[in-house]
Amino acid sequence: MLSAAANPAARFSPQSRVAVLLPLPLGGAYDYRVGAEPVGVGEFVTVPLGKREVIGVVWGEGAGDTDSARLKTIHQRLDCPPLPEVTRKFVDWVAAYTLSMPGLVLKMAMSVPQALEPARALMACRLAPTRPDIKLTDARRRVLETAATLPPLPPADLAREAGVGPAVVKGLLEAGALESVAIKRPPIFEDPDLARPAPTLSDGQRQAADALVTALDKGFSVAVIDGVTGSGKTEVYFEAVAAAVAQGRQILVLLPEIALSAQWLSRFRTRFGVEPAEWHSELSDAKRRETWRAVASGEAKVIVGARSALFLPYPALGLIVVDEEHDGAFKQEDGVSYHARDMAVVRASLGKIPVALASATPSLETLANIQAGRYQRLHLPDRHAGASMPDIVPVDLRRHPPPRGTWLSPVLVTALEDTFAAGEQAMLFLNRRGYAPLTLCRKCGFRLQCPHCTAWLVEHRMAGKLMCHHCGFSTRPPEKCPECEAEDSFAACGPGVERIAEEAAHRFPGARIALMASDTITGPHAAAEFVRQVADHEIDLLIGTQIVAKGYHFPMLTLVGVVDSDLGLEGGDLRAAERTHQLLSQVAGRAGRAERPGRVLLQTYQPDHPVMQALVSGDRDAFIANEADQRREAGMPPYGRLAALVVSGPEPGPLDDFARRLARAAPRSAEFQVLGPAPAPLALLRGRHRRRFLVKAARSVNLHAALREWLSKVVPQGGIRVQVDVDPYSFF
Ligand code: ADP
Ligand code: ZN
Repeated sequence: MLSAAANPAARFSPQSRVAVLLPLPLGGAYDYRVGAEPVGVGEFVTVPLGKREVIGVVWGEGAGDTDSARLKTIHQRLDCPPLPEVTRKFVDWVAAYTLSMPGLVLKMAMSVPQALEPARALMACRLAPTRPDIKLTDARRRVLETAATLPPLPPADLAREAGVGPAVVKGLLEAGALESVAIKRPPIFEDPDLARPAPTLSDGQRQAADALVTALDKGFSVAVIDGVTGSGKTEVYFEAVAAAVAQGRQILVLLPEIALSAQWLSRFRTRFGVEPAEWHSELSDAKRRETWRAVASGEAKVIVGARSALFLPYPALGLIVVDEEHDGAFKQEDGVSYHARDMAVVRASLGKIPVALASATPSLETLANIQAGRYQRLHLPDRHAGASMPDIVPVDLRRHPPPRGTWLSPVLVTALEDTFAAGEQAMLFLNRRGYAPLTLCRKCGFRLQCPHCTAWLVEHRMAGKLMCHHCGFSTRPPEKCPECEAEDSFAACGPGVERIAEEAAHRFPGARIALMASDTITGPHAAAEFVRQVADHEIDLLIGTQIVAKGYHFPMLTLVGVVDSDLGLEGGDLRAAERTHQLLSQVAGRAGRAERPGRVLLQTYQPDHPVMQALVSGDRDAFIANEADQRREAGMPPYGRLAALVVSGPEPGPLDDFARRLARAAPRSAEFQVLGPAPAPLALLRGRHRRRFLVKAARSVNLHAALREWLSKVVPQGGIRVQVDVDPYSFF
């Protein structure tokens, strides 16, 4: 089954001409001549490029546009599984859709070139056929006896089995009493244990799980597990994971923040008795290499990963799950900009397999697809084990303002005190890292700004730094105002989570308080330890940014306070209301997940805003219907299409010239509107000046063809770059 994905037909004989795609920013595949050894489509090869040698993939027949005399010859075919046909199709598809160079997409699919080198054999030792004449100590005798009864073992393992130090084994090897042999590496990822007891599903869960299982092996389909927070969506799709494993298929589960999903991993272990293969940016090089190989060989059955896991070379993928499908972290903005949820659907369709999208607040795009009958909805309206949904109430900050210089209203303070008194846990949520988002001089009003970006510097008091959240610039707080030279004149404006933690520590001296933000929790181990502390009730009050909102299940957590519910509503972003609703629903969903009922207090200046009303009433569908109406009227996604163009350059003058030329070349019609150029809200980012265009197109227009044609007319020069973002999610 594993080799079925490779195309056995397409082999190219010596001297023939083939196209080789290189993982580089080039226009397309280059032609090469096949050397003495035939090559197959999808195989990895090394080829000369200028003076270098690079690894590429045989992409198909040569295009024939290089004259034969100048054709270079493939150096070598690498001894590793070929890139599956479906992965190659996926690379082409993503490149076309995102208007990216295919080589850059291929680069994502071969992100670990070292994995293409043959794995080094594992050295083990066994008894030599004849024993040389050596002095036998007790330790040596034990090693020889152990070696006689066990299969060949690596020296360290043999020493451990025999209960001796490694030097003893080494000595016996040198003396010739033991000899080295190469053995096959043991598998790194064990198969999930399907015999372990699964939880008994509720009727609703069972129906949803059955629908997912039935869809396996029936080609492409999209199911949406639309279930309230705590409804047990994970248990539902675990059933489908188990069934797909039983069929010998691989399963990909995409999570928005895999490095922090310690609870998910421990649930997987409980259910299947093994570790899944993880794929995210924090893997070590060695782990990355062996994981890539284990995926390519089919050894790794379940892969849980961040968006980049979509580009791994699965030979036998049978199911994709996208958990928290609405999450903005699935959108990649740098380099090739793509939405992993949408590309997961594409990947499933190319691979003719089902995909399941799970969320308590599916995106408007996904809901529209359900309405149009393209996606199947699996509804879980109730929490597991009869837990009730939390009670959500707004706290009107105009009527219950916090005392000057503080951020927690008396209503929220009282609720927190009650919670601690009852021996329960609480969480305060504020989606802003650091201590204060703005620092200004009290004397002259000067604001500390990033030298490379149009952005204020954020004070991180714990780290003793001012930081730019866009480019990472950081500096010590200056002693004097750079403008008026006043000393000790700086005032912190507004709160970040550090400041809330300071206020809480002051207010609730008896409470055990912990802060969780992406800069205070570094890496999976810290996150796991943190989660354990909360779960074991070593913490009374958890304060955090959106990373605390993600999927956690803390039975004793009964109160959630949202410090600034209005935060995400600022700005003209088309999804601001939808996104705020999703985020706050998810935060609220942390409260009261077990026996004790939960309560959520939303501090807001706009208690009548549709988002607050929807959260309070729990009527998500009416809210979404209203949002959808507005988007339909405005011709916005998913009813119309958007593409964003950011042009950037080192100097503003030439950049503006270029932007004007681009604007003049733009095709314009009622169905294809080009807005801009306008200075981007972040007019300066990482030292580059930026101008934006927004393209608004009707569904009837071939957006890609029009964009391609337009962009081919004006060629950027002098360090100017054009970045295209089809289906943009951010507008800075
Ligand atoms: P969701 O992802 O929908 O918010 P979870 O999958 O996290 O919900 O489930 C919430 C809690 O309920 C978890 O602790 C989970 O283990 C538990 N749970 C869900 N379904 C069952 C079941 N059928 N039997 C036992 N426990 C369950
Ligand atoms: Zn900056």
